[in-house]
Amino acid sequence: MEADAVIIGAGPVGLFQVFELGLLEIKAHVIDSLPVVGGQCVELYPDKPIYDIPAVPVCTGQELTDNLLKQIEPFEPTFHLNQEVTVVEKREDGRFNLETSMGTRFITKTIFIAAGVGSFQPRTIKVDGIEQFEGEQVFYRVKDPSRFHGKNLVICGGGDSALDWALNFVGKAESVILLHRREDFRAAPASVAKMKELCDEFEMQFIVGQVTGYESKDERLSEIKVTGADGVTRRLPLDHLLVFFGLSPKLGPIAEWGLDIERKQLKVVDTEKFETNVPGIFAVGDINTYPGKKKLILSGFHEAALAAFGAAPYIFPEKKIHMQYTTTSPKLHKILGVE
Ligand code: FAD
Repeated sequence: MEADAVIIGAGPVGLFQVFELGLLEIKAHVIDSLPVVGGQCVELYPDKPIYDIPAVPVCTGQELTDNLLKQIEPFEPTFHLNQEVTVVEKREDGRFNLETSMGTRFITKTIFIAAGVGSFQPRTIKVDGIEQFEGEQVFYRVKDPSRFHGKNLVICGGGDSALDWALNFVGKAESVILLHRREDFRAAPASVAKMKELCDEFEMQFIVGQVTGYESKDERLSEIKVTGADGVTRRLPLDHLLVFFGLSPKLGPIAEWGLDIERKQLKVVDTEKFETNVPGIFAVGDINTYPGKKKLILSGFHEAALAAFGAAPYIFPEKKIHMQYTTTSPKLHKILGVE
C-alpha cells in the first residue's frame, strides 16, 4: 500500500495525530499491536477518571478514546489492529518501507511513532522449555474459541481475562481448571462469585498453585506440574494451557530502526517538529524525549499538532501551509464536513 502517513500506535496521541494530519488534508493509516484502540487509557485504566484534559473536567480512559474516535471520524483513518510494526527502513526514493507482523506492507512518505511505552505483549509463563508448545497447546490469547471446545483446559491467572475465559468455556470444554497462585483475584467480584458457584456445582475446578514444570508425550504437552501453597507438587493432565498473566509493554523492534534512543525513549531533534534523527520519522507522545518532556496526554496532543506541520512539506513539497482556525476557516469546515 502506498501512503502519505503511517501512525504507529493507536493510543490517545496516535488518534489525535490523525486529527492534526487530517486538518492539513493528510490521510493516515494507524497500526497497533493491540486488538483495540486507546493505548494505555484503554489497556490500563478504562474506567478511571482523568481530570487534566483541557476543557474536559472529567472523563474516563475509555470515554477519552471514544471521543477521539468521534473527533477523527471525518478523516476516515484506516486502522490495522492486532499487528506490530516490525520493519521500518528508508528507501532510495526517500520514502520508507514499513511492515507489520501480519505481513501488511506500506510504502510511506512519513511515519509518526506514537508507540507510548512500547507494544503491549502478554507476560509469558516462566517454565523452561514450555515455549515449544506455544501456538499449539500453550496460548496467551484466544483467537478462535471453538478450538478449545471439547478439550481439557487449564487456565492460569487471577484477572478478568482468566476469569472471563474460564466462565466462557464451562459447558463447552470437556473440563476447565482455573489455576491461580493465591485465593485473591483482581477480576470483577461478580465473575469470582460465579466461578465459586460453578466450582461448588462441580462444573469447574479452582486450584491454588503455580506451574513449575511439565511432562510431554509424543512431542505433545501431556501434563503440567503444579506446586500448591502447601509446597506439594501435583500433576495435572491437560490438552491446552491458557495463560493470562496480563500485558507488559516492550519497546521491541523500534529499537532496531536506527533512531536515536535515550533510556528506551526516542530523542527528537527539536521541539519545533518533533522529528527524530531520521528525516521523515516523527515521534510523539510518551515514546519521545526532549528537555522538559512531561508524559502527559495534553503534551502529546501539542506534539501531534506541530509534528503534522513538520511533516507537511514531505507530502506537499510545493504547497505553502498556513495555520487556520477551525472556528472560522471555510476550508477547514469543508474538510471537517461541517459546512
Ligand atoms: P500509549 O497510550 O502508550 O499508546 C501507544 C500504543 O502504541 C499502544 O496501544 C501500543 O500497543 C502501540 N504500539 C507500541 N509499539 C508498537 C508497534 N511496534 N507496533 C504497533 N503498535 C505499537 N496522563 C494524563 O495526561 N492524565 C492522567 O490523568 C493520566 N493518568 C494515567 C493513569 C495511569 C494508571 C497510567 C498508566 C497513565 C496515565 N496517564 C495520564 C499517562 C497517559 O496514559 C499517557 O501519557 C498516554 O497514554 C500516552 O499516549 P500515547 O498515545 O503516547 O501512548
